[in-house]
Amino acid sequence: MSWALDVDYLVVGAGAAGMAFTDALIDHADVRVALIDRRPAPGGHWCDAYPFVRLHQASVFYGVASTRLGGGRLQTEWPEAGLQERADRDEICAYYLRVLHDRLLPSGRVEFFGDSEYLGDRRVVARGSDGPSTELVVPEHCRIVDAAYLSPTIPATTPPPFTVADGARVIPVNELPRIADEPGQYVVVGSGKTATDAIIWLLGRGVDAAAIRWVRPRDPWMLNRARVQPDPAVFLGMGADIMDAILAAGSLDDLFLGLESAGIMLRIDRGVQPTMARTPTLAVWELELLRGVDDVLRHGHLRRVDRGRLVFDDIAATIDRDAVIVHCAAEGLRRPPLVPIWQADAIRLQLTRPGFPCFAAALIGYVEATRPDDAEKNRVCPSSPYQNTVADWADMTILGTRSAMAFGAEPDIAAWANEVSLNPARVPPGRASSPGVAEAKARLQASTVPALAALGRLRLAHSPGA
Ligand SMILES: Cc1cc2nc3c(=O)[nH]c(=O)nc-3n(C[C@H](O)[C@H](O)[C@H](O)COP(=O)(O)OP(=O)(O)OC[C@H]3O[C@@H](n4cnc5c(N)ncnc54)[C@H](O)[C@@H]3O)c2cc1C
Repeated sequence: MSWALDVDYLVVGAGAAGMAFTDALIDHADVRVALIDRRPAPGGHWCDAYPFVRLHQASVFYGVASTRLGGGRLQTEWPEAGLQERADRDEICAYYLRVLHDRLLPSGRVEFFGDSEYLGDRRVVARGSDGPSTELVVPEHCRIVDAAYLSPTIPATTPPPFTVADGARVIPVNELPRIADEPGQYVVVGSGKTATDAIIWLLGRGVDAAAIRWVRPRDPWMLNRARVQPDPAVFLGMGADIMDAILAAGSLDDLFLGLESAGIMLRIDRGVQPTMARTPTLAVWELELLRGVDDVLRHGHLRRVDRGRLVFDDIAATIDRDAVIVHCAAEGLRRPPLVPIWQADAIRLQLTRPGFPCFAAALIGYVEATRPDDAEKNRVCPSSPYQNTVADWADMTILGTRSAMAFGAEPDIAAWANEVSLNPARVPPGRASSPGVAEAKARLQASTVPALAALGRLRLAHSPGA
């Protein structure tokens, strides 16, 4: 069976990126969109996320431009009183269902096809739930939008990157709340946000810190959540402090220590210089809990888990025979090649400033709707990368800030971006001349260009062989 689509765009992926792109596109152009996903519902990886996950940032920075996620409220209770609310998994999934059913579908210009696979070469198969599959025929003029280019890998859908011997009790992080007994030891494997979430969750359930062993191949730098808030004095003030720290630094490692002194970057162990800089946000109360876990194994990647034993390249470590090994070691944010967003075969949704993927996808939707020429779209909206190491963080800061300067120089884009609460650098009406904001903007104006040049030099000196 086949079905001819009558659409201008085929958006592959109804996760955060595809939803934000589609929402902004139909707001500014009279076009028709087919939104497809191999999952049955929108929301992307959140549909399979572990039950205790929350956004690591404020809810207002996440979602689609037309519809705010959450109420924009400050938390009033310990431990994050005074910081913006952060949605949990169920809120995020319910939000994307609402955006689909209350906004996109009623517009009459979006069709959603769940359980549908994009096979490449403009071929789509929709799996019937109780009937045969249907091939969706994509019209020739239709543009393909790859909204899965940065799709993260997560433990629930990715096997552990180590061998598991018979009898070893290895679970993905999602299964942690389902453990019925009380194991004597938990081994948490991973250096990123999922691992820190798992440890904080265990400690919050009364598990003794001494019962947790943390396999942490790399130490991470993380951003202090208190500095990444939707308040322009706070957010732009952080930007200005970052530029000042760059200008004062003698090396990239020195820069991160300067950012730590400025209250921007956090690390768990003050005796270790981190090499990982994916920089999710972390609250200080979480940092204190993580510091209570002393049993940290830093022997690179775990290769094999036997019952009662962890095997690394250089050593084997004994663990309890009934230990539960918690797999938090999926790659997470992926870093495919950085390519122009607009290409003849597809529009590939990527970042357009440091971090904030939902704002980036919405911005790309706006630019697609308002400019006829791909070369011009790529000029005003260049792609920028995610980061993994401290060197990547420097690249991300340089390229992402240049992207933000490029789209910020277009008056209509700057005006649109300043309306959108997904944009962390937005200055709401009436705040532009308030003291903290005006001062932060003036500092940024003075320091950004020389700081980016200085960061380029630090990055070059950091390269292997330089
Ligand atoms: C645990 C976790 C927490 C995060 N927290 C935050 C946060 O607080 N703030 C923030 O800004 N970022 C956060 N991120 C990063 C980023 O925002 C998210 O990863 C973002 O949701 C990614 O959205 P996406 O649409 O790119 O990918 P996905 O959510 O993976 O969506 C892509 C979709 O494409 C579909 N798909 C892929 N290939 C095909 C195909 N061939 N055919 C059909 N469908 C296909 C997939 O089924 C999937 O549903 C977090 C990431 C993780 C993993």
